[in-house]
Amino acid sequence: MKSISVQQFIDKIEEKRDVKEVHENGYQEIYYIICSILNEYIHSDWQQTDASIRSQNTKKVYYLSMEFLIGSLLKNNLLHYNLLSICNEALAELGFDPEKIYEVEHDPGLGNGGLGRLAACFLDSMASLNYPGIGCGIRYRYGLFEQKIINGYQTEYPDDWLKQSYPWEIRKEDEAMIIEYGGEAILVETDTGNLTCEYTGTEKVMAVPYDVPIVGFGNQFINTLRLWSAEPVNDRQNHDYYNQLEYEKNVEQISGYLYPDDSSISGKKLRLKQQYFLVSASLKKILDDYLLDKTATLKQLDKKVVIQINDTHPSLAIPELMRILMDEKQLKWDEAWGIVTNLFAYTNHTIMSEALETWPIDMVKEIVPRLYLIIEEINERFCQRIWFDYPELRNKIPELAVIAYDHVHMARLAIVASFRINGVAKLHTEILKTKEMKDFYKIFPQKFQNKTNGISHRRWLLMVNPRLANFISSVISPVWIEQPNELNQMIRYVNDKGLLEELAAIKLANKQELAHYIYKNTGVLVDDRSIFDVQIKRLHEYKRQLLNVFHIIYLYQRIKENPNLNLMPRTFIFAAKAAPSYHLAKEIIKLINTVADIVNHDPEIDNKIKVVFLENYNVSLAEKIIPAADVSEQISTASKEASGTGNMKMMMNSALTIGTLDGANIEIEQLVGKHNMFIFGLRSEQVYQHYQMGDYHVNEIYQTDPRIQSILRQLHDGINGQTTFKDIYFQLLQTNDPYFILKDFDSYVEAQNLIDLTYRDPIKWHSKCLVNIAHSGKFSSDRTIHEYASAIWNIKQLK
Ligand SMILES: *Cc1c(COP(=O)(O)O)cnc(C)c1O
Repeated sequence: MKSISVQQFIDKIEEKRDVKEVHENGYQEIYYIICSILNEYIHSDWQQTDASIRSQNTKKVYYLSMEFLIGSLLKNNLLHYNLLSICNEALAELGFDPEKIYEVEHDPGLGNGGLGRLAACFLDSMASLNYPGIGCGIRYRYGLFEQKIINGYQTEYPDDWLKQSYPWEIRKEDEAMIIEYGGEAILVETDTGNLTCEYTGTEKVMAVPYDVPIVGFGNQFINTLRLWSAEPVNDRQNHDYYNQLEYEKNVEQISGYLYPDDSSISGKKLRLKQQYFLVSASLKKILDDYLLDKTATLKQLDKKVVIQINDTHPSLAIPELMRILMDEKQLKWDEAWGIVTNLFAYTNHTIMSEALETWPIDMVKEIVPRLYLIIEEINERFCQRIWFDYPELRNKIPELAVIAYDHVHMARLAIVASFRINGVAKLHTEILKTKEMKDFYKIFPQKFQNKTNGISHRRWLLMVNPRLANFISSVISPVWIEQPNELNQMIRYVNDKGLLEELAAIKLANKQELAHYIYKNTGVLVDDRSIFDVQIKRLHEYKRQLLNVFHIIYLYQRIKENPNLNLMPRTFIFAAKAAPSYHLAKEIIKLINTVADIVNHDPEIDNKIKVVFLENYNVSLAEKIIPAADVSEQISTASKEASGTGNMKMMMNSALTIGTLDGANIEIEQLVGKHNMFIFGLRSEQVYQHYQMGDYHVNEIYQTDPRIQSILRQLHDGINGQTTFKDIYFQLLQTNDPYFILKDFDSYVEAQNLIDLTYRDPIKWHSKCLVNIAHSGKFSSDRTIHEYASAIWNIKQLK
């Protein structure tokens, strides 16, 4: 890539527009100009990458996901072209604040949380490591709702992210595909005596792809994220005018909006239609591409193609490929099954039963009747296999069958048909093998693998925390940018007082920036010397934001009882969206805001603690908060958080973790050691044991711990006579606290006290931070992607 000077960059901007004429707040105009400059590079490199992949005819991975939470791209793409500082300088010289220009970009909210963000980090790593990888997803017209906090409550607004045109996408109308729903599937005998399937009365929908470039870091390698949009087919199927309008309205809904449930399923017809839309369009495209090579045979498909399915959401791809191979390519069942079972790999993201997808068979029959017949046959053959080959599992057939009690179980379908199944952290994979999927593990031991999640260190360190990134580069050279494991070299400085002081100064500067943002957005003035204690993630009972709030209420009370209490000042920072239908989660948001209101306005508290809830958590907000975190709250009930990736982002940005031994926290602990984080609470085995023995009784704790009694009383009666939280109160007591909040309270308070003490010695604190940074390289998604590439996908890095 040719390098370019600041002046040349300015010239490029002025070629497009006389900047003197741009209105003072014409940030949007400048934003589009910068995008178009960058797009000239990107589009040329994109074509070259495509040509080179085609000429080398190498194997590709297709990453199918209902969610991609890619975040804003302008800054990221500039960084990946080594143009970020040049652009910053050019904009500054022209009198613009670069950050204001970057903020024009509206985050595409095409995902809920961790699962969608993981998909985005994987795309980043595949492109940066020269792996040919194509993301396939849906171009939702409306992304995840925008959250506003009104009177302490979450209110939801549509995320109209396409109101202004999105400069990165390219519509490819000539590559549109026709998708067919419903109708009837009838098996008929052909002249040669084979069975084929004929469809009648289907409803046709057009899937139009919009391609987004995924720019590799400094390698001019551009992969594609292909997002499908649903549009009416224009063959005038419905002659009646009103029918036509009705049809168009229904079609647009298919890619109309993202379902806002994180870790729970909606069971809605439209959601099933969305899933089929994604997989049918993507598979047609995959096969078309593959068959461009006239020598290619379907039998050899797995030599050139592998498909990763991100959770079970795209697992209809399995019967859909069977359908295509049999009905359209005239293969026999066994031939088709042989191809299918070498093609798909499935990532499991959760063990929580409410998140395991099942569909009522009537719904499947109605929307994809032919697939239902195929799923039935897959189920029949699998059950036969258990019956004859695993007689000891015969009585477990209802728990293993793909179709049971009139429901299709998507995880079982994915397990039966995939050649690899992976969990997303060591503990999670162990739980799959020994508990939640242990009978499947008996049948298919060779299929199960672990692939611990990761994050892009380029976005989550280099881009979001330039102070820290520059500092690390000045100490160990920029070698870590290409090889994140080299962050290890930092460990040599663990006792270097001067260097630790610099690290402290960097954190302080980041905290000042965030404090400014907090003041601007909430009006709350926070002390930038206080401990920034951060819990940012979806709101869910298992993530236990409630435990965090209970500790705050307890602290508040202690300060009220003793205004001279010797506490390190603390700022508790929350950000979280709750699924709109998740009543209790929304009550917890209201509780956080109520506590914030009381604590922040109580003069007796004397600014010892502050509580801040930042609204509309998304990638951009995460990027602002994470570099300023001192403490990273990763406090899920052990066994419930499959991996977590927020934990990795904050560790890499020198926060210390307070956490349970859950998900990837365990692997962080194995690297940094228990003295460099704050571990508390039940372990996964103990949680399982309590469930099994039924020997945990919430009342015992309620009766014996006066701190808990007092907190719960206040929920019931209202804190300072304000809003009551009876639903939370009764939920905890009547369901026997299934997430062990009260059980873990005591050890959580103890861990929090230790944080308070440790923070008093800044050198000691920052030496622990340094240890965390030094070990965070393992959590780069580059490591994860290399593991998928070699142990599952069998694909190679291109030259
Ligand atoms: C990283 C990230 C998540 C996942 O956070 P966890 O703490 O692992 O649940 C969710 N949402 C956004 C916007 C993120 O950036």
